[in-house]
Amino acid sequence: MSKKQVKSRNFSFGTIVALYKVIKKTLRNERRKTMERKLRNMSWTDFEELRKTAKTIILPSGACEVYGPQNPLGADILVAKKLSEMLAERVNGIVAPCLEVGQSKSLTTFPGTIAISANTLKAVYSEIIDEFVRLGFTRFFIVNNHLHNTQPLTEVLEDARIAHGIKYGQVGVWQYLPVVTDKLGIWETEKPHAHASEAQTSVLLHLYPELVHMEKAVNTPIKPDRWPGITKSILYSEQTDSGLLGDGTVATAEKGKIAVDTALDAMEDFIKNYLEKE
Ligand SMILES: [Zn+2]
Repeated sequence: MSKKQVKSRNFSFGTIVALYKVIKKTLRNERRKTMERKLRNMSWTDFEELRKTAKTIILPSGACEVYGPQNPLGADILVAKKLSEMLAERVNGIVAPCLEVGQSKSLTTFPGTIAISANTLKAVYSEIIDEFVRLGFTRFFIVNNHLHNTQPLTEVLEDARIAHGIKYGQVGVWQYLPVVTDKLGIWETEKPHAHASEAQTSVLLHLYPELVHMEKAVNTPIKPDRWPGITKSILYSEQTDSGLLGDGTVATAEKGKIAVDTALDAMEDFIKNYLEKE
């Protein structure tokens, strides 16, 4: 080996080490930036400092329930937490502690679903909001990824508005995605927003690629509903064997990123231009 070769080899090794250090530092800074938004990762002095400028408390809400063979049981709460953190960074908010379970009673015939009652959900979120009111906060935003939590949480927020004069917003993320993304033309299937199918799996692929196993994804056609609009005593297991409705096989992280960015833009606009206005 010539001297020149050794030199060029050393140079490239040195470059790799330097690059590694830069990447490591950047990742650490990014992580710190995110961690500072979550109450559970702050010291009380960090919180004391942040409360001088932060206005909005962001509360994640979700569930632990069947989400198709390809997705984790915690899909709803995992996405709610991640979106809450991303949103908090954009609006200088604080992410509150939350429950990891929700009102998933119709899904309990699938193993792994852990359901709690709407009353328990309401009691916990109501007391968490009361605690932040005690600390001087009046603006609350719930990032809710589980449909059956929406109504109980709306009641909690309304009660807090009446009792304490809070101002609030709540977004049911999976019901919100059609509102903000359907016009973008990113979805390929007829019902992309059905439970655990194209849209939801795409969002999970973007936010938690390590937890999604696309080789297990399936296409489970949605049975036509003869009585649409009527709430019925039909178990989720009567509608699907796989725990998924629609086509989960066409999900991609790219579609998920577009959906997440678009939804976050709209939520950020709402918080800055409505929720935090006097
Ligand atoms: Zn759910």
